[in-house]
Order: sequence, then structure tokens, then C-alpha cells
Amino acid sequence: MTITCDFPGGNIAVEQIDGDTVRLRPDLRDTEGAWFYWHFRVSGASDRTVHFEFTQDPVIGARGPAVSTDGGLTWSWLGTGPGHRFSYTFPNNTEAVSFCMTIPYTMAEWTRFLSGHANNPHLRSGILCTSRKGRPVETLTCGCLDAVPQHRVLITARHHCCETLQSFALEGLIDYMLGDEPGAAWMRAHVELLAIPFMDKDGVEEGDQGKNRRPRDHNRDYDDHGIYPETLALRSKISRWSNGLLSVGIDLHCPWISGVINECIYFVGQPSEEKWTEQQTLSGILEKTKQGPLPFHASNNLPYGTSWNVASSYQKGRCFSHWLCTVPGIRVSTTVELPYANAEGIEVNANTARAFGTDLGRAIYGYLGQSSAPRETGR
Ligand SMILES: [Zn+2]
Repeated sequence: MTITCDFPGGNIAVEQIDGDTVRLRPDLRDTEGAWFYWHFRVSGASDRTVHFEFTQDPVIGARGPAVSTDGGLTWSWLGTGPGHRFSYTFPNNTEAVSFCMTIPYTMAEWTRFLSGHANNPHLRSGILCTSRKGRPVETLTCGCLDAVPQHRVLITARHHCCETLQSFALEGLIDYMLGDEPGAAWMRAHVELLAIPFMDKDGVEEGDQGKNRRPRDHNRDYDDHGIYPETLALRSKISRWSNGLLSVGIDLHCPWISGVINECIYFVGQPSEEKWTEQQTLSGILEKTKQGPLPFHASNNLPYGTSWNVASSYQKGRCFSHWLCTVPGIRVSTTVELPYANAEGIEVNANTARAFGTDLGRAIYGYLGQSSAPRETGR
């Protein structure tokens, strides 16, 4: 039996293989404290039942580990509850089986997504900057690209590189922008959407935790002196690009591994009362117009000053959505949390996360399109 992680997004530290029992843990690298991302591949275990025992707990979410038997093309949750251990019976004649704490998403998946939209005139790929380790950090613009738009919208993902499910939501949101719904046509005519799919590109490809990276992670790097090329380049880009037209900015995240608040979708409330009101408006529209299977209730939003959304959580530095509130003209700046595996009892996976992204796109249309429509005049 061979256990490897030398591929994009791979992460595991194997401590001991003792017969059919493997002791292992996430490779935390430069993480402050513990986090739970891991992703490895097993070969040479055909027809055996292997027990995987993690020496860190918890590292398995609400629906167990994600498993792929086709080289990472498709994944399903094994279904063996939260905790730190699982067993797996490898089918006969299996070459390799992949296991991951989440459903992984790296540049390979993004490239596959883009290839499905090759030559679409409403999409344009670009480069934000080069990462510390020399990787291109991609941008995607879509919608109103050849005229001055009425609104600009910014979507960022993977400030915390392990939070993979939101990358599928981003795909769904782009799909909405390119789709047949009447709101989408309005969006393409009036809105320029800029997406940054991988705010921590090196972490995504190398399989880092990203969250609580020392000395601070990418989403605590928005005070005056940023240390990451991506966050510095994004701030510079926004100051040139927004031009008073940036109305909505959404930073996509996944919460902690499991547990009550971590098993529902929610918006993270801003300290400013005015911005909180706008978050409530957008999330209210999302609740009313959503069509996908994942439940969303605006009552699950997390007001500032409650649970983890308090000043002490931002001691390492300002987060992106707080910084975005300082951009002139911005109406909604929000972090949105999408659970890894379970949203109010419904399964989160690539498809349901995509459908949530489409719901988010429709809600942005509802927010911008309705408020921008000519008002009816009295007769
Ligand atoms: Zn996060």
C-alpha cells in the first residue's frame, strides 16, 4: 500500500502504517494552531479494508471524507460522520483511490470549467499578479466588457485556500451570468463582474491549510502594510477599476469543519449599521429568489459582535470584506460562508454548491436590477 500527496492540492503526514491500520494527520506546515485540511491518494490496497486513524481530531466533517475512484474527476462523501477515523474497503482491481477532507478544487478544475466556456464573448481571462512562488494569479471578467457598465461586482474566493466548496459556487455564479434567465441578460448588459478564483494561489496548488497561516493569513492582510502579492495587487486593481461603480463585493468562504453554525449558509455581518442593512437586503432577496437545493435563511446571518464575528477575530489584521467597505460607492461588502458538507441537513457537493452560486447570481441581479430599474411614475 502506498500513500502519496505529491500532486496539486495534496496534503498528508503519514506517521505509521501497521498492517491494515494507518496513523496519519494533516500537514499543518506554517499554520498557527490546528486546522483540518488533508488530501491523499492510496494505491496498492486492492481488496483490502484499511483503517485510517488520524492523530488530530476533528479532521473529518459532517458527511465523512470525500472519496474519488476516478482520479479526482468525481467525488462523493463516504458518509461516516464527523471525527478522526474512517475505514474503507478498496474494491478489487482498483489502481488508486483519493480521499480528502473536502471536495478538492485546484487550477485543474478551474481550467476544466473555463474550457467549457471557450470562445464565449462574455468572458475574459486575465492575470492579477504573480504569486510569491511564481504562479500566475488569474482573473475572470464577465458581463458588460466593452462599454462602461452601470455597476461593477467583485467576487473573490480562496483567501483561505482550503475552502474549496466555494470554488464550485463561483462556477455556478459565472454560469448564471452566462445563462438564459432574464436577469442574466440584464446583468450582461449592465454589470461587469470581476472574479478572482484563487486569492492564495500557492496555497491552493500546494495543499496548504491557508487559514491562520503565520504571521497572518491572506484574509487578515488588509491593513496598511500587506505582505502577499495577491492582496496588494487586488487593492491596487480595485482602486483603479472601481471608479465609483463597484456596488457589490462578495468574499466566498467556508466555515469551521462541522457543528451547528458551521452547517448553514450565512452572511458575516459588518460592523457598520449601514452596511449590515444592505447585507440584510441582499440576503433577503437571496432567501426569496433561491431555487437550488441548499437552504438559505437570512436569519442565520451572523451580526457583528456575536459568536466569532467580534473584534478579537481580526486582531491579526483587517479582513478583505472590512477593507472593501472603504471603497467609495460600495453598497454591499460581505463574506458569505458555505459549509463543507452539510447545509441545514442537505448535502453540499459540487453540484449543490454550484446551484447555490447560481442562486447568489440571481440575488445580485435582484439587488442591482430591481433597485436600478426606472421607477414607476404616478398617473
Ligand atoms: Zn475563510
